[in-house]
Formats: sequence, structure tokens, C-alpha cells
Amino acid sequence: MESKNKESDNKNDSKKKTGKVKMSQNAAEGLRELFIDSLKDIYWAEKALTKALPKMAKNATNSDLISTIEEHIEVTQKQVTRLEDVFANLGERASASKCEAMEGLIKEGESILEETEPGPVRDAGIIAASQKIEHYEIATYGTLVAFASTLGEDEVADLLIETLEEEKEADVALTENAYNSINFDAADLDK
Ligand code: FE
Ligand code: ZN
Ligand code: FE
Ligand code: FE
Repeated sequence: MESKNKESDNKNDSKKKTGKVKMSQNAAEGLRELFIDSLKDIYWAEKALTKALPKMAKNATNSDLISTIEEHIEVTQKQVTRLEDVFANLGERASASKCEAMEGLIKEGESILEETEPGPVRDAGIIAASQKIEHYEIATYGTLVAFASTLGEDEVADLLIETLEEEKEADVALTENAYNSINFDAADLDK
């Protein structure tokens, strides 16, 4: 631990003293750039979800859960297109930059699949992983709406609010799936 972190310790010297992180060369300048960078991040995330969600649906057993996820796959594809509209509206090229957080959340979901047999316990795990994903998206779009409003981009704010509402709906549907039998079935297996 000591020698391995020597280099990063040196790099973080200024951070240690002041608690402040110095801006790297490519760091966003100004709120608009931060906004655009955040849009690229969620654009990557939504595209990654169009690939990850079908795997979740395929591995779920409960039919209500499968329809919730399948419905959200369609919604997610529309959200990708909506983000392209947002970029166009802002006069920016739609480009994706890797969202480390979403990559991690998707990996966590995949590891649940590896650790469980098909059935109610796996379904409960799929719901848990999916809700973490939806909550990350709710947090992200909430922030993006605020940025858009602050920047006076009202049309863009309205588009992002549509997506925010869809993510909230998905979260509610997943909660309903959890309480309509899946978690109870999963608990019954333990008896
Ligand atoms: Fe989404
Ligand atoms: Zn991210
Ligand atoms: Fe994050
Ligand atoms: Fe979502």
C-alpha cells in the first residue's frame, strides 16, 4: 500500500493540503461546458442501457418484471433520440463520452446474474440493480434540467424533464414489481 500509492500521493499533494482539486487541462470551463460534458456522459449511459437492459429482461422470470424492463427498453431508445434532439437544439454534435458510474452499475447488475439462479431471488436482484440505475438517471436528469434552466435553454429543459419523468415512472414500476410478489417469493425460498 505504501509504495504502490507513492506516485498518486505525490500527484495529490495539493489536494491533501487544501482539499481542493486543481483543474486538469481538459476540465470543463464554465457551466455550459459542464452541461455539454454531462450530456455526453448520459448519452453514453443511455446507449449502454439499450444493450444492457435486454440482458436483464432475458434473465428475469416474473412476467410483470419482464414487461416493465421491456417497456423501459423502448423508452430508453426514445431517450437516446431525445438526447440527439437536445444536442441539435444546442448546436452541438451528439457525441458520447464514457460514463464510469453507469459502467459500474451495469457491471454490478451483471454480477448479480452470475451469482444467482433464475427465479425470484435473481428477479429481486435485477430489481435492485435496475433501481440503482434509475436513481442514477433521476439524479443526472434532475441536475441537467437545472443546468438547462439556469442557462436559459428552456426548450432543452422541457425535453430533459420528459426523460426525468420517464425515469421516475420506471422506478415506481420497479418498486411495484418488488412488492407484488417478487420479494415475497424470494423470501419464501429461504424458509
Ligand atoms: Fe434513461
Ligand atoms: Zn456518469
Ligand atoms: Fe456519477
Ligand atoms: Fe431509465
